[in-house]
Amino acid sequence: MQSAKKHLRQLSPEELQQWLAAEGEPAYRLRQLQQWLWEKGARSLHQLSNIPQKLREKLHQHFALEPLEVELRQQASDGTVKLRFRTHEGLLVEGVLIVTEERVTACISSQVGCSLTCAFCATGRMGRLRNLRSDEILDQVHLLREEAQRLGRQLNNIVYMGMGEPLLNYREVLHSLQVLTAPQGLALSPRRITVSTAGIAKLMRRLADDGVRVRLALSLHATTDEQRSRIMPINEENNLSAVVSALRYYQEHTGSRVSFEYILFSNFNDTLEDARRLVGLCAQVPMVHVNLIEYNPVPGLFFEASDAATTQRFQDFLQRHGIPTTLRRSRGRDIDAACGQLATQGLLHSS
Ligand code: SF4
Repeated sequence: MQSAKKHLRQLSPEELQQWLAAEGEPAYRLRQLQQWLWEKGARSLHQLSNIPQKLREKLHQHFALEPLEVELRQQASDGTVKLRFRTHEGLLVEGVLIVTEERVTACISSQVGCSLTCAFCATGRMGRLRNLRSDEILDQVHLLREEAQRLGRQLNNIVYMGMGEPLLNYREVLHSLQVLTAPQGLALSPRRITVSTAGIAKLMRRLADDGVRVRLALSLHATTDEQRSRIMPINEENNLSAVVSALRYYQEHTGSRVSFEYILFSNFNDTLEDARRLVGLCAQVPMVHVNLIEYNPVPGLFFEASDAATTQRFQDFLQRHGIPTTLRRSRGRDIDAACGQLATQGLLHSS
């Protein structure tokens, strides 16, 4: 059961300020609380050491906190760390810290499960249990940031590419982005944040209209409607023409970098004919970047990864046609932390 109380960390600065003023608190309390709740990611009122005990008790009476807890930590042989988080009612979601020489990236979830049933994705088989609140999304960032610090590294990038479709949890994702980029939040540059979507055209446009300036990645994975609908049912209502034009709209209105994500599946979308059509789609979105992704087979699903020679040939073709392309090698494979592998067995904790 969700608490009937309002969640403390979901309040806007204005709401928190109003509540503090009504309680007769001095103006500087707002800044102190903001630092604890959004900058430092405090997940318990006990941590608020410079807030008087009496005020902490009032906060406890009026508001809920319900933070995510870490239920399981796994580290892969390549250094990737996967955390399994437990919500207060026992649901499980996952986040991943991807550590390379150049950067440290937190891959976070926006929903418990996902309603979109992409055929190649483990999460899609779970269905959607609920949306995460913005503070639960931010808890993942704070907990993964602590993991990075334990490794002696600093978190540089955040990608919304874990469980769920971020744009189907629009309001909470938007609020989390505002806290991540606000000077009184984590003050991250929007260039360090990527939201990845399976493609919901009207919400991609709305992101631009709402003043969001993060990077936007479109999970493309196919170059014709017939082919894409076979693996991504969302394509029935948001076809290629609609999502590609929405991506262009986002780029034009925000000036932010946009990308096509393209998982290479053997004998499905990895021929030179596919590459040629992909070049055609790229021509519709100037400066779009292509991330080619190595697939991680999911037990029980039908897809296989393209082999190294085919992958190379595909990438070479794009680059010869002037498309900026990066090959994303699979990481964290031995702990099921790679793209498309985030799905928590059991889902409900047994407590
Ligand atoms: S790929 Fe993303 S949008 Fe598709 S089912 Fe998986 S989590 Fe949902």
